[in-house]
This record gives sequence, structure tokens and C-alpha cells, in this order.
Amino acid sequence: MLPLIAGNWKMHLLREEAIRLVSALRAEATSLACELLVCPPATVLADVATHLAGSPIMVGGQDCHQASFGPHTGDISAPMLRDAGASWVILGHSERRSDHHESDALVCAKAKAALAAGLKPIVCVGETQAERVAGQAERVVSTQLAHSLPDGFSGAVAYEPVWAIGTGHTPTETEIAAMHGMIRKALQARMGAAGEAIRILYGGSVKPENAKSLLAIPDVGGALVGGASLKAESFLAIARAVPSRH
Ligand code: PEP
Repeated sequence: MLPLIAGNWKMHLLREEAIRLVSALRAEATSLACELLVCPPATVLADVATHLAGSPIMVGGQDCHQASFGPHTGDISAPMLRDAGASWVILGHSERRSDHHESDALVCAKAKAALAAGLKPIVCVGETQAERVAGQAERVVSTQLAHSLPDGFSGAVAYEPVWAIGTGHTPTETEIAAMHGMIRKALQARMGAAGEAIRILYGGSVKPENAKSLLAIPDVGGALVGGASLKAESFLAIARAVPSRH
């Protein structure tokens, strides 16, 4: 399976900027050794999807509600994302876990809803700085993983240490290899061979300068990219850093 390079635009870009960015991606994203995904804000998702129709670049949401329809003012459901042109959705990002107090159980319910609507979820897990310093990183991540993934899960998992997001800091290659290895083992123990088909993305300050070494770490099946996904040059440079062994 090709590595997945996913861009999380978060709460950035108005329509004109978004279309300019995807036009540049569409024009230059040729002969890549990876799959490319952009996750724009909901307000521009349908426009972005229309603009990318017929290109290999995929579109995803940044969150969805756990119900399909109903009285939930301001929320967006998985069938709505699908209807707008999305094929993926990011769930349980640490900014949603902290800003909106999302629990593992809620992330799990959202993942179930996404799968039922035909979306592939990217479920995010990751420890805080304090948890890593306390030697609790693997315990925290394995608990999040166990409770955030529904039975029959397919899609991707993103390991995103909270302290690495938007800070310019990353764990060492040894630390990332250990965490991804632990996640792979947990997936295999829970779902057998199906657990091998789930890509484990690394996220947290991935840049063109560090992408090559991060993407070469065993069990790193791609990257979830925040800041560097907002510019075509840096996002494409990361996509081109995918090692040829994949
Ligand atoms: C993210 O928010 O998912 C992320 C990884 O951000 P950044 O690349 O900016 O650290």
C-alpha cells in the first residue's frame, strides 16, 4: 500500500486561497510514490472537491458528528461530508480532544458513523509532554487506541504527540519507531491480518527538511501534516520525500 500524505488545513484558508492551493497541487502532483489527501475546512470542502474531480488527490473532512442527521446545530455529519465530495475524515485530533473535550468513546462513535457513511477515518492518538516525561506515553497511546477504534475499523491511525504539533519539535526516530511498532502490534492483536492493512501516519512538525528521515522509519505509513500543508511547495516537497522502498 502506498504511503498516505494528508494535509490538515485546520481553520485556515478562504475560498480563493483554497482554490489557488489545490490548483497548484493538482498541476504539480505528478508521479508521486504516495497518495495525497487534503482536509480543508467544511466551508470550502465542496469547492475543493469539485476542483479536484478527476485528479488523484483525495479530499477529507476534519471532524464529523456521530449521528447521521438530527438536531445538532453547527455540526456536520459523515453522510454530509460524503455528499460534499469527501472520502476521508480526521477524527480525534488533539485540538478537538482539548478544545471540545472529545473522549475516546465519542471518537469511537464518530469513527463508526464515518465507516457507515463510506468514509475512511484517520483516528489521531498521542501523548502530552507531561505524559511523555512521566514515562506514560505508550500507556496513554495504547489506551486511546483501544477505546477510539470501533470493531471492524479500517482507515488509518495517526500518531501525533501533542507536544510536537505546531512546535517544530519531534520525537527521536527511535521514539517514533517504538510507538509505531507498539501501535502495529496492538492493531494486529485486535484485528489479525486486517491490522496490517491500516496505515500508521506520523504527525507533528513534519516539514520538507525532516520528511525524508521521518518517512523512512519502520511502520511509518505516511504523514499527517498541519502547517506545511498550507503551501503547495512544502506539501509537495514532503510528498516527494517518500522513500522508494514503499
Ligand atoms: C496537525 O495538526 O495534525 C499537525 C501535525 O500540525 P503540524 O504539522 O503543524 O505540527
